[in-house]
Amino acid sequence: MTNAVPKDSPSLQILLVDDNPIQLSLLRHLFQRHGHSTIEARNGAEALIVLATEFPDVVVSDCVMPLVDGYQLCRLLKDDRATRHLPVLLLTAQGTGLARFWAKTCGADRFLVKGRDLDHVVEAAAALAAQSSRPRTASAVPKLAQENFGVDAIQRQLAQALEQRLIETALRDSIARLYTADHDTPRLIEGFIEILQELVIPGALLVAYLGEEGLWCHGVHGSSASEADRHALEEAISREGFFQPSPHCHWHPISNDEERRRSMRDPVLRIFPATTPGYPAVGSLAFITERRAADDFERLFEIAAEELGRLLSLEDSRLRLYHQAIRDSLTGLFNRHHILDMLGMELDQCGRFGQGLSVMLIDLDHFKAVNDRFGHATGDQVLSVMAQRMVFGLRKVDQLGRVGGEEFLVYCPQTDLEGVRALAERLREQVIVDPIPGLPSGDRVTLSIGLAAWEGPEDSAERLLSRADKALYQAKAEGRNRVVG
Ligand code: GH3
Ligand code: MG
Ligand code: MG
Repeated sequence: MTNAVPKDSPSLQILLVDDNPIQLSLLRHLFQRHGHSTIEARNGAEALIVLATEFPDVVVSDCVMPLVDGYQLCRLLKDDRATRHLPVLLLTAQGTGLARFWAKTCGADRFLVKGRDLDHVVEAAAALAAQSSRPRTASAVPKLAQENFGVDAIQRQLAQALEQRLIETALRDSIARLYTADHDTPRLIEGFIEILQELVIPGALLVAYLGEEGLWCHGVHGSSASEADRHALEEAISREGFFQPSPHCHWHPISNDEERRRSMRDPVLRIFPATTPGYPAVGSLAFITERRAADDFERLFEIAAEELGRLLSLEDSRLRLYHQAIRDSLTGLFNRHHILDMLGMELDQCGRFGQGLSVMLIDLDHFKAVNDRFGHATGDQVLSVMAQRMVFGLRKVDQLGRVGGEEFLVYCPQTDLEGVRALAERLREQVIVDPIPGLPSGDRVTLSIGLAAWEGPEDSAERLLSRADKALYQAKAEGRNRVVG
């Protein structure tokens, strides 16, 4: 071990907390040998007294101590806004999983085992001080030390801290539960708002997110929030940056008798991005409420925004995965599996409501020749251009999927054979109007289309498709670029 103080390492003041005098002096020597100064306390309560007048850079504390132990000290410091950023390093005699778990849950920045890691304690404390975002001002006196300080006050504070933690856990839990209950983004947001609205009413709450279908913005407001208040929230949300142009917001009024008697005395507006680390921002949470409520519930709002970020990014991943699972990556059309699933469901509906349905089985003509003449990459490009033309040529109610290499299935609800024939003819003609990028300007790729109409509940999807397939075969045999059925 080196005794030299590294030149670039600043001299720190360390608060050492330990009920064992031998351990205390051992730590004191260690830190002083590295050029740091130390102050000392024999338990958590003494440490809090010391912190009323001293502003150390790091607290290095034992865990098991009388009166107020290291975990409790840490919890008190981390729950107090004045000392939240003061780094705490906990030292314990045992390296058991439970000790480590408690150290983590009480918010310790680092956890070391006395016998094993003591060599690293100075280095670890210096690293914590270097990372600390703590403002180096001399005003960070713990709340407890400012109050009528005594064992009672400490116990009260500890009980409050634990209760606060319980509320936070319950909030996280109820938001997380939404995700296991519902897989529909607007409903998830509604559930989220329902959980939070009690905290901001009187007032208003607005949640905006970037969903699959663009921007969504949902809000609730009590009767005490004016139109101007709501507008201010919308403004704040669109100023966030990723909500341009400002979204159209759906507001839902909430009224209860109690609220009518209350009004906002000193309203404040707060906005939180709903983000998950490593994930692009997908939403934000804004509210307007009484300053007192906003201050009291600040930590809960932070947690809610964090959980909303998690909810939205999970939802985003789920939608992406779902999209990947049902679509063909080359053309963006539904894949074989999904279009057949959809057809099955549609036929169930037709059976129930006595409606008709027809299908087209479409195959590109002489497509192998496109690959042979221009290469597979050009073939791919032609396939996706043809897919786009088919989408464009069909009605909104018609569903189109890629069921094979250059084979497509369309089903047309509430359409008989005559209707589908007209649609197919129009499609066949439309796709050959314009030249295809990548092919010589006179070259066209034509379609052969086989048709079949559903014949009622005694018919099946397999039989329907097999009739369409026969018709397609006939269209090929009769010379291609035609509709049969
Ligand atoms: P026909 O008019 O009888 O349908 O002739 P065809 O050449 O279109 O039919 P065939 O079934 O002989 O060949 C289909 C070709 O489609 C062969 C295959 O290389 C090509 N193909 C299938 N899937 C893809 C794909 O994803 N990309 C590309 N570039 N070509 C594909
Ligand atoms: Mg073909
Ligand atoms: Mg084919």
